[in-house]
Amino acid sequence: MEPTKFVLGDEHIPQSWYNIVPDLPFALEPPLDPATREPVGPEAFAPIFPRAIIEQEVSAEPRVPIPEEVRKIYGLWRPTPLFRARRLERLLDTPARIYYKYEGVSPTGSHKPNTAVPQAYYNREEGVRRLTTETGAGQWGSSLAFACRQMGLECTVYMVRVSYDQKPYRRIMMQTYGADVHASPTDLTQAGRRILEEHPDSPGSLGIAISEAVEDAVGSEDAKYSLGSVLNHVLLHQTVIGQEAIEQMELAGEYPDVVVGCAGGGSNFGGIAFPFLRENLLNGRDTRFIAVEPASCPTLTKGRFTYDFGDTAGTTPLMKMYTLGHSFVPAGIHAGGLRYHGDSPILSALVHEGLVEARAYLQNETFEAGVAFARAEGIVPAPEVNHAIKAVMDLALEAREAGEGRVILFNMCGHGHFDLSAYERYLAGELVDLQLSQEEIDRALEGLPI
Ligand SMILES: *Cc1c(COP(=O)(O)O)cnc(C)c1O
Repeated sequence: MEPTKFVLGDEHIPQSWYNIVPDLPFALEPPLDPATREPVGPEAFAPIFPRAIIEQEVSAEPRVPIPEEVRKIYGLWRPTPLFRARRLERLLDTPARIYYKYEGVSPTGSHKPNTAVPQAYYNREEGVRRLTTETGAGQWGSSLAFACRQMGLECTVYMVRVSYDQKPYRRIMMQTYGADVHASPTDLTQAGRRILEEHPDSPGSLGIAISEAVEDAVGSEDAKYSLGSVLNHVLLHQTVIGQEAIEQMELAGEYPDVVVGCAGGGSNFGGIAFPFLRENLLNGRDTRFIAVEPASCPTLTKGRFTYDFGDTAGTTPLMKMYTLGHSFVPAGIHAGGLRYHGDSPILSALVHEGLVEARAYLQNETFEAGVAFARAEGIVPAPEVNHAIKAVMDLALEAREAGEGRVILFNMCGHGHFDLSAYERYLAGELVDLQLSQEEIDRALEGLPI
């Protein structure tokens, strides 16, 4: 029988996370204080993050050991399986060999618990009692709610209004784990009230919800804030994905020519890509890397590489990244996890330096790809993943044109079981394609702080 599934035993759960920063062929630009424009030291993050997380955020060590308690919880679902998508290959009649790493087997159905668990762990170790956070589609909120429950912490989640309304099941899941969930913007914080005064019907955005969650944490004694993407320590934690994938590709007797992932804040992409990118940087491999985003929130493909706030209210340090402007409110597309104005500083710099390519696709073409994938392979993908799948299918068709048997690996970073209303609308022909005009992008960029 031709193997389609490549699995590893518990002993292959990685012992350490891989920090790409010291291996980069360029220096990252530091976060800046918005008032003085001077680089901020790690202490600027002390009101919102525990010491261990701040150390990881600025770490120059290539390997960070994974605490044993975190590895034990990882063992509930890790190592995750790697599949060869033989039926999709047949459907596309392509000589390309397509592999995917499936993170949907985690308790919450995505890659997010890979960082939620260590973040909750380090906070508990330092005496924190409650974590606050934002969530878009609810993937991050449910993952942090799960991790907080494992570590005995309370959890408060500010959920982007449009997703709160569209995706009640994720809210119920968070509440099942015991979290407090609010539709953002709320009237519980200054940041939320300010938005509601101007836009009472605001659909919310990740940027707004971040402002609310940060304000809540900073204003409480025993609470800290937790971010599910973008920052260096989050991408660090996600590298368990790529490290396992390297071993599993070896089991399959292959090495990827191309690695593809969808990019919202860049964490699942960095998680699968960085361990392979290390092989390019240190060991002479020449794999291509492609990050895929929505045409309605085209941060990497049409944003500007500059300093901007991480949140809408302008309370975070300035970060050098691709951004559409912190006041940009993305359209209410169904890939909630990809609706963020900025992107990881590491991923942004890699795109800027030409080490990672970026592509953008429209909503309907990504769902078309996702439905084809579901019919071929059986797994209904999260709408975010459909962006990666669309790019993979294009690459496979290019391979057919060129008559090349290239090896494509992508990160199937979550299932779509909580996103079926989006599929319902797609199947009914009701999804709209929104592409930003240059004019709208220019307008959004006007509010940049620098
Ligand atoms: C959150 C999420 C994303 C976007 O976040 P990244 O940090 O870019 O990975 C993508 N896919 C799924 C399934 C998510 O839950």
